[in-house]
Amino acid sequence: MEIEEAISEAELEDKPIPKIQRLEDSVVNRIAAGEVIQRPVSAVKELIENSLDADSTSISVVVKDGGLKLIQVSDDGHGIRYEDLPILCERHTTSKLSKFEDLQSIRSMGFRGEALASMTYVGHVTVTTITVGQLHGYRAAYRDGLMVDEPKACAAVKGTQIMIENLFYNMAARRKTLQNSADDYTKIVDLISRFAVHHTHVSFSCRKHGAGRADIHTLATSSRLDAIRSVYGVSVARNLMKIEVSDTGPLNSVFNMDGFISNSNYIAKKITMVLFINDRLVDCGALKRAIEIVYTATLPKASKPFIYMSIILPPEHVDVNIHPTKREVSLLNQEFVIERIQSVVESKLRSSNESRTFQEQTLEFSSSSPMATIKDSTKDLSPSGIKSQKVPHKMVRTDTLDPSGRLHAYMQMKPPSISERGSFLSSVRSSIRQRRNPSETADLTSIQELVNEIDNDCHPGLLDVVRHCTYAGMADGIFALLQHNTLLYLVNVINLSKELMYQQVLHRFAHFNAIQLSEPASVPELIMLALKEEGTDPDPEGNESNELRGKIAEMNTELLKQKAEMLEDYFSIYMDSNGNISRLPVILDQYTPDMDRLPEFLLCLGNDVDWEDEKICFQTIAAALGNFYALHPPLLPNPSGDGLKFYRKRVLSSGSEGTSIENIENGTMEAEIEEELLLEAENAWAQREWSIQHVLFPSLRLFFKPPTSMATNGTFVQVASLEKLYRIFERC
Ligand code: ADP
Ligand code: MG
Repeated sequence: MEIEEAISEAELEDKPIPKIQRLEDSVVNRIAAGEVIQRPVSAVKELIENSLDADSTSISVVVKDGGLKLIQVSDDGHGIRYEDLPILCERHTTSKLSKFEDLQSIRSMGFRGEALASMTYVGHVTVTTITVGQLHGYRAAYRDGLMVDEPKACAAVKGTQIMIENLFYNMAARRKTLQNSADDYTKIVDLISRFAVHHTHVSFSCRKHGAGRADIHTLATSSRLDAIRSVYGVSVARNLMKIEVSDTGPLNSVFNMDGFISNSNYIAKKITMVLFINDRLVDCGALKRAIEIVYTATLPKASKPFIYMSIILPPEHVDVNIHPTKREVSLLNQEFVIERIQSVVESKLRSSNESRTFQEQTLEFSSSSPMATIKDSTKDLSPSGIKSQKVPHKMVRTDTLDPSGRLHAYMQMKPPSISERGSFLSSVRSSIRQRRNPSETADLTSIQELVNEIDNDCHPGLLDVVRHCTYAGMADGIFALLQHNTLLYLVNVINLSKELMYQQVLHRFAHFNAIQLSEPASVPELIMLALKEEGTDPDPEGNESNELRGKIAEMNTELLKQKAEMLEDYFSIYMDSNGNISRLPVILDQYTPDMDRLPEFLLCLGNDVDWEDEKICFQTIAAALGNFYALHPPLLPNPSGDGLKFYRKRVLSSGSEGTSIENIENGTMEAEIEEELLLEAENAWAQREWSIQHVLFPSLRLFFKPPTSMATNGTFVQVASLEKLYRIFERC
């Protein structure tokens, strides 16, 4: 680092300071155009939107060479006036907007007058058009924003045809990367399919240049389901349910949603989400993930949904003044809209699923259900979390009985609204965050190697057990009882969850959603805590050892600061320059780790990770995360088992007159603390059991590759064969 700086300084001495120059317009325009038109499919989208804006009822697309040789879009819309042709492809020429205020109420898809101009900077554009009442049309060619010659009169049918040839002819690198990719045509067909489902009154077709048959051809229809059937096929249309929501939001905004969603019979490996907001085809990652979560949580089968949704909001609630290619939108009241939609999808799915015969993995909601108690306790805990800005100094984690020392307060859990009551999803929503842009380096081969190792080491017999077992319940704090065919197994939940988390970290590498801590927590202080916990020092409070721990904590924090960028990009572990940690990755949807284990994890990151070798580094970080997120038994003893004695004993020894749990209720201060503790322990254990049943086992079924070692290391233990048991019963 220092050497490099020295060299560059030396170089600077000889070299003149670089002069700032104004880029030529042609260069500026080409750079800008390359951003608007990123791939052939982005040009097709702009052209189709123009055709729709021109009130067309029929749009056909022809593509050659994935769009690089030719893209041609013909429509039967209102056409372009002869007088407008000279400025048609200049930047910022549009017929849709004249003053800024118009943006508030704009209904058309284009409005910036940028798309056609951009196309002329990166391709050869020819426009043929005719307006009503004309006997013939005109054809004009464009380069770099300008019309090349006078428009030529020509024969034309109703509407406009726009042709782009040699796209990216002047961008060698872009052309090269796109040339070998066969999927651009697929992307174009996919795009047109989406338009066809929404704009049912328009007929669409798309074919490859020279092909006799169109790959997609839809007729104008009045039925949405017919449109879906003709585009996505009978098997999709057969398994759809209609869905509708309309509601008044916090700001009295009205939103309407209607659409179709797949039922529990629908099977697909990938989610299809066709989303239109105010008739614009858009992506909304947050909504998509929110719906995916409902499906994973509600249906026992590993199927991804098909979703078509059209959302209408007051135009002023959608910011349309965004870059034309930016398909990702954000809405005013986004949280509210998403939550409303999520709960309607959930109840629709639940009621459709009830008629099925397989065992449903839903949770009964009674007042004693884990989620209900968690809600209550969250309310109690959050104020203390807000008060303590940092981890309190005297917080000693070894004393598991000190509730103030527990880190739950750092978790962001907003109090659920009334409409969500009864829905277990409420606890999850806080963890839904925008996915980061995956960095380009994310397809590192070392990760691929680690994933391959998991695949190669997978035990087929155990895989079958995991995929097809029925979860019977927890046998104790560590082992769960499973039934597979006629065999019963005891399985070690901690081992399983540790390994599952490890595998998921590698699978989600660089693509994590984030859990936001409500308060950033100081990394050095957390490491101090972990060191105290770990220390075998006879005098843990002694000044000398405290100083030493302080140094170790400082050094580890420095090390992590140096690695902060990598930890953030690849693992979504975010630490700011002051050494505060505020974000952790979502490894399994709907699951947050036990925050009591955060100090240990940070210490482990500092101590146990090998930062030298890339592959070993990723592997050790994944293992540390696996250990942190695993479903360890809560630190407080289980009050429903032998653990209850522990709480009773505390009451007795604390000198209160109470000898039973009932007495605690009207007992002294200490007794109140005991009760709080008991409640917290109950919550922790109940929540863990809930997570094991509703998050861990469904995820194991979906994602887990059991390593061969688990067949012999006691993780899976066969305890009985039902056949043999039956035979014993028969004899009796
Ligand atoms: P924008 O759509 O943002 O206005 P474009 O560059 O896409 O900008 O188009 C510029 C203008 O060209 C449009 O405003 C419209 O008047 C006209 N135009 C483009 N395509 C068509 C078409 N297919 N039919 C009729 N007019 C069109
Ligand atoms: Mg446009």
